Amino acid sequence: MNHPSDTTLNTVSVPDDLYHVFLNAQHYVRNYFSSMQQDPAKGSIKFSDEQYILVRASSMSKEFFDMMALLYKDRGEKEARTLSFNFLFDIAHSIGKADAKSFFSKMKVDDPIEKLAAGPVHFAYTGWASVKIHPLSNPVPGENFYLIYDHLYSFEAQAWLAKEEKTDFPVCVMNSGYSSGWCEESFGIPLVAAEIECQAKGDRQCRFIMAHPSKIKDYINEYAKKAYIKYEHYKKIDIPEFFKRKRLEDELKNYKTHLEKLVQKRTDKLTKTNQQLEEANIALKVVLKQMEQQEKTDKENFLINIKQSIMPYLNQLSETDVSKGQQVLLDRLEKNISQITSPLISKLSSKYLNLTPMEIKVATLVKDGTVNKEIAQILNVSLNTITSHRYKIRTKLELKNKSINLRSYLLSLEE
Ligand SMILES: [Zn+2]
Repeated sequence: MNHPSDTTLNTVSVPDDLYHVFLNAQHYVRNYFSSMQQDPAKGSIKFSDEQYILVRASSMSKEFFDMMALLYKDRGEKEARTLSFNFLFDIAHSIGKADAKSFFSKMKVDDPIEKLAAGPVHFAYTGWASVKIHPLSNPVPGENFYLIYDHLYSFEAQAWLAKEEKTDFPVCVMNSGYSSGWCEESFGIPLVAAEIECQAKGDRQCRFIMAHPSKIKDYINEYAKKAYIKYEHYKKIDIPEFFKRKRLEDELKNYKTHLEKLVQKRTDKLTKTNQQLEEANIALKVVLKQMEQQEKTDKENFLINIKQSIMPYLNQLSETDVSKGQQVLLDRLEKNISQITSPLISKLSSKYLNLTPMEIKVATLVKDGTVNKEIAQILNVSLNTITSHRYKIRTKLELKNKSINLRSYLLSLEE
């Protein structure tokens, strides 16, 4: 019980050596699509119990491009077209792969050539195009896979032609995507298809080359030379790349991560340098403090030396029987020594003055202008004790028997 289409292959056109395998494919694909169960009440269309959806062809081609052009108006026509291209290619390639996978498992097809054969027939039954495979094709697994084929009545070219709009670029990007997705699934190798001629731009046919991504450019070059395709047309052939957008996004993401790492590295370096500077600063401060301390000690030692090694002898000398002229010289000597030392006694040094803690307290209160009675109250001692402390302070400051006010002297030490 032969159906006419069992003996005549009429859904695809293939080289003679592939005729039988395609005829076989046509047989079971036709059976698969032989009865449609449409149930609008359930919103369902089914073939062989598999649910399908109907999409208006132009919505997925011409009108989709127009919408994208409008949406990305700010980025220009070319970028809008590239975005549409990538989007539609990715969708169609994914659908092609998924349809192939499901179909192979449902129809129990194992052989790669049989799998490939089901594709174009399936394509014809689902309304995408009618496929013509050229004899130069070499559909083999591996990098030498080569398919050159036309899509007659491509739904995409039809959508453009129906609007009577001629383009200057090939439009059948979903045809490229779906066919390469199906074949990729059939042979288990990455495949890409580029449309090299398109009816929508005035060519005689919509012609595609499908190959391994590493070989596609060479095949297109070869074809362009043989077919005398002008360079300006040839350079408009877009070689789609599955998930190009994702690759670009990944590259961008990687670059961003790289930049972030670089910034972090520089920040770390700056932080380290900053820490080193801070440490150096602290060390410098310590050295300065030590130097200041040393200077202070040197001054004090100098003053102590004068006080202990010179002044007593000078005092003794003035108490001896000296002439008037000698006394004048002694006075001058004393005055000069005092002039040399007084700027050095700029800070009241307990070490130099040799004051006891109690004497320092009394001296501080005197300096502040506190009267004896109050000092006695504050320090909780008798007035006599204060008088005694004052006397000792005057002695230590060598103010004994001199008409120099203690407070004035203490204040002068502070200047
Ligand atoms: Zn086309």
